Amino acid sequence: MKYLGAHVSAAGGPDKAVERAVEIGADAFALFTKNQRQWHAKPLADDAIEAFRTACREHGFGPERILPHDSYLINLGHPDAAGLAKSRDAFLDEMQRCEQLGLTLLNFHPGSHLKKISEAECLTRIAESINLALDRTRGVTAVIENTAGQGTNLGWRFEHLAEIIEQVDDKSRVGVCIDTCHAFAAGYDLRTPQACTDTLDAFGSVVGFEYLRGMHLNDAKSEFASRVDRHHSLGQGNIGLEAFTTLMRDSRLDGIPMILETIDPSLWADEIAWLRAQQE
Ligand SMILES: [Zn+2]
Ligand SMILES: [Zn+2]
Repeated sequence: MKYLGAHVSAAGGPDKAVERAVEIGADAFALFTKNQRQWHAKPLADDAIEAFRTACREHGFGPERILPHDSYLINLGHPDAAGLAKSRDAFLDEMQRCEQLGLTLLNFHPGSHLKKISEAECLTRIAESINLALDRTRGVTAVIENTAGQGTNLGWRFEHLAEIIEQVDDKSRVGVCIDTCHAFAAGYDLRTPQACTDTLDAFGSVVGFEYLRGMHLNDAKSEFASRVDRHHSLGQGNIGLEAFTTLMRDSRLDGIPMILETIDPSLWADEIAWLRAQQE
């Protein structure tokens, strides 16, 4: 059973994201719990929290189907002390917002070394950032997203994800989200059923499916192994529809939120219906 949805807008309050997910026929969704391009946000008001929890209950969205995404500004592997402290504070705030909303997953991009520290040192900082946030929260799993490897972003190789997890103390609250566009841009082929299965097998042996807590289903405007992050609508990019049919039929991907971050929201309802129909 696949839970399918999209990263919907939370404009007007997080409960509005639930309504938008229902409108496109989703049984999973992603959202930002604050403006993703600003450092600071007002705390969530009690009535906004209550409205969100009520909407989720009414529409049957359990926390295992909801994959909030953190702010793009946060760099948990920041090379400078001040930048790292600011990111860690903001990440803790994001985790606490999830706690308040009754959410159990928080999806984030691992971090960037900005050419100032080694990859290994950056991965250690990211793991330490996760440890600090997990120590101060309860019930929320830190879900590391693989990246396209653009610029100095780490997390584009499955080995990076495994290395971070290795250094996280509470393995029960760390997980991974695979973004198909990012994987493809990072050099993991998905263009044929065999390539798709090989990529998933590689994930299984390097990271392990017990850590898979979500997926982002995106076609790619970027070329294979280009390390460029450009999403596209399903079937319109360089990955192609066959990959998504293969993914929908792979039982290793059951029971997790599978989220579209494709570029045309007017297609989301059709994309979800098409994906659902691919399951055998
Ligand atoms: Zn992301
Ligand atoms: Zn993504």
